[in-house]
Amino acid sequence: MAKPEFWKNNKRYYDLKSYWRNLFGCNVHKLSIDAGFTCPNRDGHVAAGGCIYCDGRGSKLRQMGTLPSVTTQIQNGKKYYAGHADKFIAYFQTFTNTYAPCDHLKQLYEEALSKPDVIGLSIGTRPDCLAPETVSLLKQYAENYHVWVELGLQSVHDKTLQFINRGHNFQQFLDAVNVLAGCKLNICVHIIIGLPGESDADVLKTAKTLAALPINGIKVHSLLALDGTIMGDMYKNGSIPMISKEKYVALTSDVLEVLPPGLVIQRLTADGYRDIFLAPAWAGNKLDVLNSINRELERRESYQGIYYK
Ligand code: SF4
Repeated sequence: MAKPEFWKNNKRYYDLKSYWRNLFGCNVHKLSIDAGFTCPNRDGHVAAGGCIYCDGRGSKLRQMGTLPSVTTQIQNGKKYYAGHADKFIAYFQTFTNTYAPCDHLKQLYEEALSKPDVIGLSIGTRPDCLAPETVSLLKQYAENYHVWVELGLQSVHDKTLQFINRGHNFQQFLDAVNVLAGCKLNICVHIIIGLPGESDADVLKTAKTLAALPINGIKVHSLLALDGTIMGDMYKNGSIPMISKEKYVALTSDVLEVLPPGLVIQRLTADGYRDIFLAPAWAGNKLDVLNSINRELERRESYQGIYYK
């Protein structure tokens, strides 16, 4: 099987930029928005303390003081990308962006959608935080806009989800996919490679399981140890090893090989705040990680989807 022609890129996987160029014929960028949400896994509604790798500080904007309005954040984002993007997706990114009454969500989402050149939404959330009225609202938007729901999952293995204190299990994720699928909404799933206690086979099982589901995109992150988190403490006291760059590159390549060729790869690296970043050091050079993954696929004469069944 040859590399799919519809990718129209020089990569060995179907990246988000190429997907949007195919779909809209222009450059599209996400504009990150912190709309002031918290998370039910932090405030005691589902659990307290959050996922063990979550730093709990929200966005840099939130740390700087009063949060600017959605409108201001969009205006600032558009200025930042001026000359590099023609259209924009409003990315409600910080914490759990469906964790509020539907009326409040509607007001925020529509403030974003009313702005010129904003052609859609990307809503970051958890599988257990999708009220029926919120799902209906998002489905309505998807009729006229380009809408993604980004579901944090990290692993299909319940033992891992328990260990990292996700506050939901794999079945709840499957229920969320069932509720969101079958309409014009796009589903993107987040996974983490390098989670404590996971074998290579566990990671591959996560990828193969997702490959069989009606999802449209994936974000792959490396596990980061951040200061002030439980994971950071575990790293500092030597109770968990961090994945090496070589291992991460090899495993990410394995994952890409079993995913469908049409699944959009939204991300292959992780971000963490510089001031609290502990490890692994190699994760700080995102470009090097991306180039290394592409080179590894070249070395294997392989690409995304080569082993997809
Ligand atoms: S679900 Fe997201 S925001 Fe909530 S605790 Fe976990 S990582 Fe943090």
